[in-house]
Amino acid sequence: MPLLVRRTAAALSLLLVAGAAGSAPMAQAADGSTGPAAATVAGIPGARGIGDPAFPSDGNGGYDVAHYDVHDSYRLRSGAISGSTTLTATATEDLSSFDLDLVLVPDAVSLDGTPVRFAKSGRHELVITPAAAIARGTSFTVKVRYHGVPRRLGWGAEKPFFAAPDEALATNEPHIAPWWFPVNDHPRDKATYDITVAVARGHQVLSNGTLVGRHTSGAWTSWHWRMTRPMASYLAYFTAGRFRIERGTTYGLPWTVAVSRAYDRAAQDQQLRLLRTSPGIVHWLESQVGDYPFDSTGGVVSGLFTGFALENQSRPTYPFLGVGHEAHSVVVHELAHQWFGDLVSVEHWRDIWLNEGFATWFEWRYDETHGRASAWRRLRSEYAGHPASDAFWRLRIGSPGPDHLFDQPVYDRGGMALEALRHRMGTTAFLSLLRTWVQQHSDGNATVEQFEALAEQVSGQDLGGFFHAWLHTGARPARTAANGLR
Ligand SMILES: [Zn+2]
Repeated sequence: MPLLVRRTAAALSLLLVAGAAGSAPMAQAADGSTGPAAATVAGIPGARGIGDPAFPSDGNGGYDVAHYDVHDSYRLRSGAISGSTTLTATATEDLSSFDLDLVLVPDAVSLDGTPVRFAKSGRHELVITPAAAIARGTSFTVKVRYHGVPRRLGWGAEKPFFAAPDEALATNEPHIAPWWFPVNDHPRDKATYDITVAVARGHQVLSNGTLVGRHTSGAWTSWHWRMTRPMASYLAYFTAGRFRIERGTTYGLPWTVAVSRAYDRAAQDQQLRLLRTSPGIVHWLESQVGDYPFDSTGGVVSGLFTGFALENQSRPTYPFLGVGHEAHSVVVHELAHQWFGDLVSVEHWRDIWLNEGFATWFEWRYDETHGRASAWRRLRSEYAGHPASDAFWRLRIGSPGPDHLFDQPVYDRGGMALEALRHRMGTTAFLSLLRTWVQQHSDGNATVEQFEALAEQVSGQDLGGFFHAWLHTGARPARTAANGLR
């Protein structure tokens, strides 16, 4: 995500969901409780959060999801979703109950095909209680039917779903998935996805990965997209509306780009020209960090005003970007995230520097390899531009806190830290570090501490003081060789 416009937290409006009794737990149709008494384990309730201190309710404990099969129908005019999602998971504990994250209203839940007890606990947690405990190591499927109007649904200060009467966009960070499907909502539980979204005939749906098929029945057209590589839940998306879509294959990589028809023809042409640079940028990034991990690329320019772009896996989403160097840099940034953020994801949200610092550094690296200022020069000018008294230096970007994940220093001080590290290690060793990092954590998660350790290993240097100065203090690093500044 690049900061194009500073986001303001949407005011939380009082919300009453039809059919849901406020925040009171709503016990629903109990069934299966009279089923065969096959309980061989007692089980305990799975934790309501996966264990990220910054966001205690994010994700859940006790299971690991392998695959989501999402089927949503989206009504553009009313903004209503109804759908059913089947997820395949494995218990990692003996579970007497477990949670999914879902802000929508649940209508029915079944476990391995049998209806089960479920209740909403608060606005975010769907608690599922099987008739008999699920033993650790058991694979199971959960199917949830649900409905709601996601643009109206808030949780805390967040209302992350973007919608207008003619277009919708389920894109945000760190939270969006529970607004359109039930999910273990944390980057630590990656899964593959089939995403099928039906909209009124004559409209289009874009999502992650490859378009498997399109099926029109009556007034509806279903668009089925597939992501075959593990993906963090916040990177899953769909957008529905009227789009100009182009497809092709460049350097052997299929791509799909799309621009909202909300813009006039000339603006559409201009944004399509920009998006068509994506395969070339991916090809350049491969020369820096190794093979592109996904089976397609591209991008979508939304007709909605979001104020930010997001690195949705394989196919980022953008607001209107205009033209010129800054617009192009946003595309470089989001495509660099395909390795740094998507293929290698944060272990905790506090590790966000691994995403934003790296994507920012690649903007600078792209520039210096394409006839513009060097990243080293960029580092020095940013350093000079922020005197020691500047609030810019206050944020400890190695763990910025949940309210500051996307503050400017995470990006700029983050990119500076990497360029300083490169200056200290040398370019060859630094690029080798990045490649090794990606190889070691592909399809997984990683921490800032792990990156620090690998940098020491690859460089053979003690970098404790360096990382302390750049990532873990609220002060401007001194201009020393040890800090990569001389
Ligand atoms: Zn970013």
